[in-house]
Amino acid sequence: MSSCCSDHATKIITGSCPKCGVFCKSIDNKTLYHQVKFPENQAAFQGKYYFCPSKECTVGYFSSTGHAIPKQHLRTYQEFKDDKLCYCFDINASYYLSALTANNADVIKNFVIQKTKSGDCACDVRNPSGQCCLAKFKILEKNNFLSKSAQL
Ligand SMILES: [Zn+2]
Repeated sequence: MSSCCSDHATKIITGSCPKCGVFCKSIDNKTLYHQVKFPENQAAFQGKYYFCPSKECTVGYFSSTGHAIPKQHLRTYQEFKDDKLCYCFDINASYYLSALTANNADVIKNFVIQKTKSGDCACDVRNPSGQCCLAKFKILEKNNFLSKSAQL
C-alpha cells in the first residue's frame, strides 16, 4: 500500500540528531512552517531540516547548517508528549492499544485507511514527522501481538 503522503513529499534523506544521535528523517518545508510556532516560523529556514523522533530528546527539528528548534516550540508538542498515534484524526496510542486488547481496533484502523485512500488525511502538516501515521499502527499491532504471545 502506498503512503498518503508519497504523492507530494519530496525525497526523504536521513541524518542523526546532533543532541541524542538518533536516526532522523528529513521533512518538507511545508511541515516545518506548519509545525513551528509563531513567531519562530517567520524565519527563513536555510537548508534541509530533520525531525528527531525521540521522546527523551529536547531537539525537535535541526538543519544541515546546524540550526536547532526545540520540541517545545512545536505546535504539536503536547500531542507528541501524549503519544499521539494519528495526528490527522486525533487518535492516541493508549486508546488504540486498549482497542487492540479488546479486539475492536479494526474499525479505527479501517477508518484511517479509508480516509488515507480518499486523500482526507493531513499527515504532512499535522504530524511533526511529516510521515503517514499508518506505519505506527502496524508497529503497535506488532508490539501488542508480541506482548500477548509472551504472556502465554
Ligand atoms: Zn534527538
